[in-house]
Amino acid sequence: MNIELLLKQHVGAPCKPIVSQGEEVKKGQLVAEPNGLGANIHSSVYGQVLKVTEEKIIIDAYENQPEEYVKISETDNKLEAIKEAGIVGAGGAGFPTHIKFNVNSGVEYVIANAAECEPNLGHNISLIEENPEIIIRGIKYAMEISNASKGYIAIKPKHKKAIITLGKICKHEENIEVKFLSDMYPSGDERVIVRELLDIELEPGQLPLEAKAIISNVETLKNITLAIEERKPVITKDITVAGRVKGAISGKAILDVPIGMPIINYIEECGGYIEPHGEIVLGGPFTGKRGEENTPVSKTLGGILVGMPFPKEKRKIGVIECECGAQEHRYKEIAEGMDGDIVASTKCKRMVEVNGRFRCNLPGICPGQAEKVLYLKNQGAEAIIVGTCED
Ligand code: SF4
Repeated sequence: MNIELLLKQHVGAPCKPIVSQGEEVKKGQLVAEPNGLGANIHSSVYGQVLKVTEEKIIIDAYENQPEEYVKISETDNKLEAIKEAGIVGAGGAGFPTHIKFNVNSGVEYVIANAAECEPNLGHNISLIEENPEIIIRGIKYAMEISNASKGYIAIKPKHKKAIITLGKICKHEENIEVKFLSDMYPSGDERVIVRELLDIELEPGQLPLEAKAIISNVETLKNITLAIEERKPVITKDITVAGRVKGAISGKAILDVPIGMPIINYIEECGGYIEPHGEIVLGGPFTGKRGEENTPVSKTLGGILVGMPFPKEKRKIGVIECECGAQEHRYKEIAEGMDGDIVASTKCKRMVEVNGRFRCNLPGICPGQAEKVLYLKNQGAEAIIVGTCED
């Protein structure tokens, strides 16, 4: 079995490989280092390097895969352990965690993001239900590193079992509390979390730090705990398989999948495709992108979703974009899949341009789109693909 370690699994530049073809590697061994903004990459298997390209390191994984792994070097500095372990935002953003937490002062809150915002995904909630202590310890380490005085866990009220599990632990914790988010998309957006938990409205482009908060996905907090307590690098990922897959129609969480494994493994592990099936989507239904059966698991992959075959749509198509939904490239993919033509596209009226990027100025408080629908109709659109949270 071959695994593929992508050299870019994070925000920033692709990492620089430090192993070469033919070399034997151990599980946990450092195989690529940052080349500017980035995070260390470690082998998730014992094996032999088959090939190194500009995009990836391909490793022939041995059949025998002992549990033991090469530990990251000993250090008393917790931020250094996070850096060594190659931790990045596991919720999909992929921002290097050692940089996010490298703040000297001004942080009051560490917020664990347990929104599990995208429909169908369930691995964050499964993690909380199975091992809530590892997240609580991660919050405490994150509070210690950032000198924060308060820890919150942001979760939707519908996840009752997870809330009860967390509540039992939090009642013994003076400074950590469970807080509720609205049950809507995009409640996991950092600005929505800041608004709902701290009652502060951040401007488009402002970071939670402006509200004295650092927000970290629950799986990232798990990885922080593992790096500090077990000297474990990031070599596995929690995922959800869902959609046209036997045994996983409404979502099946699989925890601790080796990074680099082809995603078809997990579709097959759940029972294989339900026929007919359409494209594979990597991530959630709102923001995911198209994947292939041999796409490798990465540090930021959350969902492996298998869709229905696209309906065929011969009418002219218009598109309305939302910051929290799919962007232009994805709409083109969908329209092509439907054999349709996009004749016009527009954005939700709440989107404003900040530093060359369109952002929502009030995420989650979504307007009707009648005005945009009329605009698209005037441009000749006969059908509309809507990526906004409303309508
Ligand atoms: S207000 Fe518009 S851009 Fe913002 S989240 Fe809602 S639909 Fe998306």
